[in-house]
Amino acid sequence: QVGVWINAATAMLGMLALVHITLMETAEANSLQRDIERGMARREFFLVFQPQVQADGKVVGAEALLRWRHPQLGMVSPGDFIPVAEESGQILPLGSWVLQEACQTLQRWARTPAMDGVSLSVNVSAKQFLQPDFVGQIASAMQQHGVVAARLKLELTESMLVHDMSDIIAKMHSLHTLGVGCSLDDFGTGFSSLSYLKKLPLDQIKIDQAFVRDVLTDPSDAAIARAVLQLGENLGLAVIAEGVETEGQRDFLLANHCRLFQGYLYSRPLAAIDFEMYVADNSAM
Ligand code: C2E
Ligand code: CA
Ligand code: CA
Ligand code: CA
Repeated sequence: QVGVWINAATAMLGMLALVHITLMETAEANSLQRDIERGMARREFFLVFQPQVQADGKVVGAEALLRWRHPQLGMVSPGDFIPVAEESGQILPLGSWVLQEACQTLQRWARTPAMDGVSLSVNVSAKQFLQPDFVGQIASAMQQHGVVAARLKLELTESMLVHDMSDIIAKMHSLHTLGVGCSLDDFGTGFSSLSYLKKLPLDQIKIDQAFVRDVLTDPSDAAIARAVLQLGENLGLAVIAEGVETEGQRDFLLANHCRLFQGYLYSRPLAAIDFEMYVADNSAM
């Protein structure tokens, strides 16, 4: 009898604790949502640029990564606010801002001889990509800033492939026609089946840093990295490795025919002006 009562009480307490945590998380998300709203109005967001380089060190592009300088919390990681913005729908205005900012940056680069030819990859959330007029938004942002299409690339994640595939394929074809390349981000971490790969008009796949990290010590990560590189080669897709931190990792990838690299070994994400300097310093290879 007492035992049953104690069990019931314990279960109740557990439930209460759960409700408490959920409430706290909701409150936290609500206040973050308000802060994102205010942050957009007050220009607290900005982009940083991480070099994407060839084996010889020459910079061919950058990934644009969103940053938030919160007036009280300091720098908030996109890992913390992007999920909140995706949940609330704020990723739509935030994502449009990122695209505008990226196109403006490309416009500036086109006027700088040393930067002309450097491409810019922008992360796009599933919610953004699934908007009916997404391709139209891209086209008008490019037109507004006179951006040469081949310079703009989109990084899409596998997670969006659970949605209407024919819609996704149609959009990617339209982007392709516009000259905008698509890269499949975080490849290997999602649920996508390999058969999708041949249906999608992709230009590039990105080996996730989860596989790069232990490529020298974990034989299955090494096997996955090698398999992705071979797949790219056979399907005629460029493969870029992200999260490359050591020469050992780079040498392994290079030996397996990887041609594009991104990671702290080369550079952390940089402010625009520092990225432009990085390109100048690494152009005469
Ligand atoms: P991601 O697209 O997979 O971006 C790569 C992340 O790895 C970035 O984190 C980058 O700073 C970090 N990184 C780069 N090189 C290395 C390395 O050598 N070692 C390690 N450990 N990490 C490295 P970040 O900037 O914190 O971004 C986190 C995620 O937030 C991104 O993951 C992306 O999913 C999302 N994100 C960032 N900016 C945007 C954006 O503008 N729009 C959307 N929708 N998502 C974004
Ligand atoms: Ca990315
Ligand atoms: Ca990734
Ligand atoms: Ca990721």
